[in-house]
Amino acid sequence: MINLIDDLKNALGSDIVKTGDEVPEHQHTKDFALRGVRPFAVAYPRSAGDVSVILRLCNQHHQAVVPQGGMTGLAGGAVAAEGQLALSLSRMGEIEEIDLAAGTMTVQAGVALQTVQEAADRADMLFPLDLGGRGSCQVGGMASTNAGGNRVLRYGMARALILGLEAVLPDGTIINNLNKMLKNNAGYDLKQLFIGSEGTLGVITRLILRIFPKPRSVSTALCSSRSYADVLAFLQLSNQTLAGALSAFEVMWADFYEVAQRSQKRGLPLPSGEPFYVLVEALGGDPLSDKEKFEGLIARALEDGVLTDGVVAQSLRDAEAFWALRDSPGEFRQTYWPNTAFDVSLPIGEIDDFVEACRDRLRSAWPDVNSVYFGHIADSNIHIVVQLDQKPFPKRAIEEIVYETVRDYRGSVSAEHGIGVVKLDFLEFSRTPEEIALMRTLKLAIDPHNILNPGKVLGDVSS
Ligand SMILES: Cc1cc2nc3c(=O)[nH]c(=O)nc-3n(C[C@H](O)[C@H](O)[C@H](O)COP(=O)(O)OP(=O)(O)OC[C@H]3O[C@@H](n4cnc5c(N)ncnc54)[C@H](O)[C@@H]3O)c2cc1C
Repeated sequence: MINLIDDLKNALGSDIVKTGDEVPEHQHTKDFALRGVRPFAVAYPRSAGDVSVILRLCNQHHQAVVPQGGMTGLAGGAVAAEGQLALSLSRMGEIEEIDLAAGTMTVQAGVALQTVQEAADRADMLFPLDLGGRGSCQVGGMASTNAGGNRVLRYGMARALILGLEAVLPDGTIINNLNKMLKNNAGYDLKQLFIGSEGTLGVITRLILRIFPKPRSVSTALCSSRSYADVLAFLQLSNQTLAGALSAFEVMWADFYEVAQRSQKRGLPLPSGEPFYVLVEALGGDPLSDKEKFEGLIARALEDGVLTDGVVAQSLRDAEAFWALRDSPGEFRQTYWPNTAFDVSLPIGEIDDFVEACRDRLRSAWPDVNSVYFGHIADSNIHIVVQLDQKPFPKRAIEEIVYETVRDYRGSVSAEHGIGVVKLDFLEFSRTPEEIALMRTLKLAIDPHNILNPGKVLGDVSS
């Protein structure tokens, strides 16, 4: 280790690495899911060239390296284990170029998501990916976890918003895949290796992001429906009527709406008691005609009977009140505690059957258990929060029931946040043995000494 640190300082200068007590503990020890150990050393590269030297030397010393972005991850992917060196992208925070003709922004991997959003806004453009950790999470981390967030339905996950990238392999090779073109089928699309692989195949150093014309109108409504079949019919009608402008379709089951109302300061926009509530939002380019089209959609759905009630926001304040219901899990620590939360995906047509099965199985195990269901169902994504007054809280047993139900309905145990270390035991619930074998083959081909984020996503690849 001492040799490695000396080699790093000799190659890149003494400020490239901090060791022991110099390592700021709170910045490098935990993400939003897990507390790990303080890394024995943290390297702070300034460029892809520095990352290349760091990884080449670590590879020669067989030193495990954990890439760290903003540490907002929800799967423990950036958390170090004993004896691991952290590689922080925090010094690589430049926005290099905005190309309005191409609709792209070229950035270093350590730029915060919010900084990217603000730079796009100043150029009268939109970088649409948005999530709660925006102030701290970095675009490199966002790419490595293939983050989703609030506008996936309209613009896609991170993968759809990245045209090209630069990454450094564990042996120090720099892969320049800084493609700006929407169409490029010349061989394998190598950027996909690094997007969503949680820092196990390479360190992302630069990205070419897609930016879009800013929407000029936002229309929002809160509606209720009497059955899941009606909710799906309303989704179809919304897609047909709004022709690509639909940006959110958030479904809340009745039990969720009951708990959500506990934290609302204003009166409820719609009375409780209906089986389903839907928050629907559209982004458009022409405020007058967008409003007309949107109100026409709600009127038609009421007429057709797929909605039982609906209220269109007449002000930003109204829209915020609708979203406050949907975002009420932020208050669950006060209103619905102790609990554990899940973020899973299911084929859209089966989500309601899954909900019934999950609720029943949890109740068979604990008659007093509560579970609430809500999510971006147009993205096949559903969130579950399970509450139980029991000490010690049986988190692992609850996880087993929920993830087994996900497996039985051919869903994914991770819709957005990745596997990291917290879902290692459940990867095989959503992936076939052949798929996992191919992932291991790729990992060992690219990282034969298993130095890059070892133990994450696939666990121990040597066995
Ligand atoms: C309040 C809150 C709300 C959130 N909401 C959402 C949401 O709606 N949707 C969603 O998808 N996620 C959400 N997240 C989690 C989300 O995954 C992270 O915010 C973000 O994507 C990770 O960025 P980061 O820079 O913090 O990465 P980190 O946590 O530092 O790292 C995450 C993973 O990426 C790897 N990594 C980081 N940087 C690099 C790099 N440059 N090269 C290679 N590997 C790297 C790490 O090793 C680790 O495996 C939320 C988090 C918070 C705290």
